[in-house]
Amino acid sequence: MDKFGYTISKERQIDYDSNNRGVASYIFEKEPSFRLCIECGGCSATCTTASFTDFSLRELNILIKRGENDQVRQNLKKCMLCGKCTLVCPRGVNTRNIVVLAIKAFQKSDNYEI
Ligand code: SF4
Ligand code: SF4
Repeated sequence: MDKFGYTISKERQIDYDSNNRGVASYIFEKEPSFRLCIECGGCSATCTTASFTDFSLRELNILIKRGENDQVRQNLKKCMLCGKCTLVCPRGVNTRNIVVLAIKAFQKSDNYEI
């Protein structure tokens, strides 16, 4: 049966047990509105950076919650912290602060230079 697509693709697998979700926990604690995100994509649709790059704040939110921190680090660099996304979020998520807190979380946890 393995040859007919019933195996789990390792590339698509999310290993929550191995992922470090400390960044997500830090943001949840400091910015509780992060829990209200429904991944609608409104922030990404209006994002200044997304007009010029493949950056997606919606995707970043998901990656943070999954603990996919290598990808989060790479994407954080692209945000210009302009705050437009915060103005349009239908759930009142302080989106700009999520990016700021994610940067702080990495700086606190391992002095990673973002
Ligand atoms: S606009 Fe708000 S609710 Fe929608 S994906 Fe962005 S942060 Fe989440
Ligand atoms: S603060 Fe960052 S994520 Fe939000 S609209 Fe500006 S560049 Fe995009």
